[in-house]
Amino acid sequence: MDFELTSQQSLVSETARRFVATHLIPHEENIEQSGEVPDILRKQLLKLARDAGLYAANMPADFGGGGLDSVEMALLERELGRVSLALSNCVLRPAPILKACKGEQIERYLKPTIAGDRVDCFALTEPGAGSDASNISTQARADGDDFILNGSKHFISHADVADFAIVFAVTGMTEGPRPRKKITSFLVDKGTPGFEVRRMGRAVGNRGYHQCELFFTDCRLPKAQVLGEVDRGFDVAKEWLFSSRLAIAANCVGRAERVLGMAVEWAASRKTFGRPIAEHQGIGFKLADMATEIEAARLLTMQLAWKMDRGEATEAFVGMAKMFSSETLGRVTDHAVQIFGGLGVMQGLPIERFWRDARVERIWDGTSEIQRLMIARELTRPYKQ
Ligand SMILES: Cc1cc2nc3c(=O)[nH]c(=O)nc-3n(C[C@H](O)[C@H](O)[C@H](O)COP(=O)(O)OP(=O)(O)OC[C@H]3O[C@@H](n4cnc5c(N)ncnc54)[C@H](O)[C@@H]3O)c2cc1C
Repeated sequence: MDFELTSQQSLVSETARRFVATHLIPHEENIEQSGEVPDILRKQLLKLARDAGLYAANMPADFGGGGLDSVEMALLERELGRVSLALSNCVLRPAPILKACKGEQIERYLKPTIAGDRVDCFALTEPGAGSDASNISTQARADGDDFILNGSKHFISHADVADFAIVFAVTGMTEGPRPRKKITSFLVDKGTPGFEVRRMGRAVGNRGYHQCELFFTDCRLPKAQVLGEVDRGFDVAKEWLFSSRLAIAANCVGRAERVLGMAVEWAASRKTFGRPIAEHQGIGFKLADMATEIEAARLLTMQLAWKMDRGEATEAFVGMAKMFSSETLGRVTDHAVQIFGGLGVMQGLPIERFWRDARVERIWDGTSEIQRLMIARELTRPYKQ
């Protein structure tokens, strides 16, 4: 077993770390205050990310992407996790589901998204279906050569800056005693008649990274807008879910490492009762727990990436990495607030922001409960009657 990074892996890691420190972290506080990433900054960062070879790093090199494998992507995501999401999101990693583009879709969606000329968003969740995503009710009714979309989505991240949405809709029911919904994914351009995007209210964290509601009212789409195969939308979505959960796990590791670094520095310098607080066991043990958990989360995440590259990742393993890393970040940020004492809850120091920003990681892309269900299901499968 070899834990050493190859020179290519080290290069990815170091390039990303430098990029984050030089180009992203300096903007963090402004974005936090304004809640917006100005368009001009977004474009500048896009260009810088492209020049640094970081843009669309997850997409195939044949189409202009970086062609990084999962281990390299995990290293990149770990570094990007150090900075706030609104900024790391400017180094866009298009939804890998776009690899399902074919024919004309390659020129209209895949290539321009990889080039940074167009931005996608992923629209699955609905007011009536979150964890139970297969229960969505947005309908796509076939009408001659077209489909007509009706329904709504919510919590769709960065739909406000996206040029098009990858939308999941019901296209029929399976036969048999327990019929299930057949789901198809569609590419829907902003500006298509009957498609409206509205920003949702502010979330507790991740200022500058917005969620939106999407409304479809008799929205007519030619069949050419189907991504992948009709009725097989979840087949293409699965790959996206694996890689986005790996990204979340790696982001959480990177963020937790940054928080630990600040907590250690503070604990070593802040004195009470004549000694640095790190020398009081109550604080020293917290630091030890934080470091140990982060290391475990990092190893689990890197092993997931390695398994993904070998085609050996299971839903349960993906769930373990996503659940453990996001929960580790939650505990680490909470300990950090405690270690900073009163200053930990004050705005201005990033500690309270890290604590707020961390909360959603246990919710999106499959809640911790859903990850545990999947792990338990896989463990007990051989005993199923
Ligand atoms: C900031 C943010 C950004 C998001 N971005 C996107 C996006 O870009 N695209 C997109 O499609 N979606 C997005 N989502 C949606 C996200 O994936 C869902 O919020 C998540 O899957 C949970 O669904 P829900 O909120 O409807 O909660 P629910 O499914 O209603 O769950 C509520 C609670 O019940 C628990 N629960 C549900 N079922 C079970 C069960 N069987 N066993 C035990 N516990 C259970 C859940 O774990 C949770 O604690 C985003 C969400 C947020 C908050």
